Amino acid sequence: MKVLKARALALAILLSFFVLQTGAFAQSNILDGPTLPSFRFPLGEVTPRTFDGGWAKEATVKNFPASQNIAGVLMSLKPGALRELHWHANAAEWAYVISGSCRITIIDPQNRVEHAEIGPGDVWYFPRGHGHSIQGTGTEDCKFILVFDNGSFSDFATFSITDWVAHTPPEVLAKNFKMSSSIFKDFPKKEVYIAQGPVPAPLPAEALPFTQVAAPLTHKYSLNAQRGDLWPGGRFQLASQKQFPISSTMSGAIQTLDAGGGLREMHWHPNADEWQYYISGHARMTVFGSGGRSRLEEFGPGDVGYVPQGYGHYIENASETEPCKTIIVLNSGDYQEISLSQWMASNTAELLGTNFKVSKKIFESLQQNNPMMTK
Ligand code: MN
Ligand code: MN
Repeated sequence: MKVLKARALALAILLSFFVLQTGAFAQSNILDGPTLPSFRFPLGEVTPRTFDGGWAKEATVKNFPASQNIAGVLMSLKPGALRELHWHANAAEWAYVISGSCRITIIDPQNRVEHAEIGPGDVWYFPRGHGHSIQGTGTEDCKFILVFDNGSFSDFATFSITDWVAHTPPEVLAKNFKMSSSIFKDFPKKEVYIAQGPVPAPLPAEALPFTQVAAPLTHKYSLNAQRGDLWPGGRFQLASQKQFPISSTMSGAIQTLDAGGGLREMHWHPNADEWQYYISGHARMTVFGSGGRSRLEEFGPGDVGYVPQGYGHYIENASETEPCKTIIVLNSGDYQEISLSQWMASNTAELLGTNFKVSKKIFESLQQNNPMMTK
């Protein structure tokens, strides 16, 4: 009996050890070797901060440790709701509208201002420190993604005008604005952040008297309207500084991977980190971090992905029926990438044979011009 019990116990220990091992194995990676921290953050599942007129949820290095250099926000504004006049000291702002419409206003240090109507698929870029606001227009809620080129940036710690006015003596406000000090007693005592108001009338066809910004300085770019690059496995619509001149510190793209195995080929970015927001569909991404470390994770709608500068990665559509649409944002206006297949094809078959310790014949059929996406 005793022997049987001991055997059963030993078997149980062995089994639990096996389960633990395979559990950890399945969770972290498919291949041998040490693993990396998670590059996936379920932004869609975050409890939002709610306000009259809208809500916001954020991913910063605090709740998503991998995202060292880029932070992001998912925000929704009701028609007429205003993300108040504010600025950020420590980050530029890149945005993509998922649904609905809004109006942006911005001022630069030369007192040039722009008011622009923004719709689904449009992008805006606000340089670091420039004052701006966003207001919902139309008849449905406006949902958009904000991306900041600083992992520690929090949209709940911006410089808001209600906050500043609330913390300035009324006599100074009176002198500053040439108004009576009594006017300010009814002003908010703390930051408003989002304020619900009436839906603004459409902007006049002719520029407002104080709208002085024209191309190429415009803060708006219609990314969805761009044809982009079509590949056998999908489509890539890019807005780097080349296409969107004001966007000097960030590049953004819409990446659409075809159903049934569309693959964004193995590559890396030598000059930038990559931040992703999965809008629709499902995909698998593997991030390779040197030293035998790599990590495979699956992404779905509402998820954020992150790839540190220089880390190798690929993204593969995980659905047979649904395309996967992802917003890709990099923290450089100069979009750069190096493709593994392109690099290999630029070397001799002999060198590659030596490199992989196999026959050089294997590499004689390597393609010279490699697509960004394939199937
Ligand atoms: Mn902002
Ligand atoms: Mn990439």
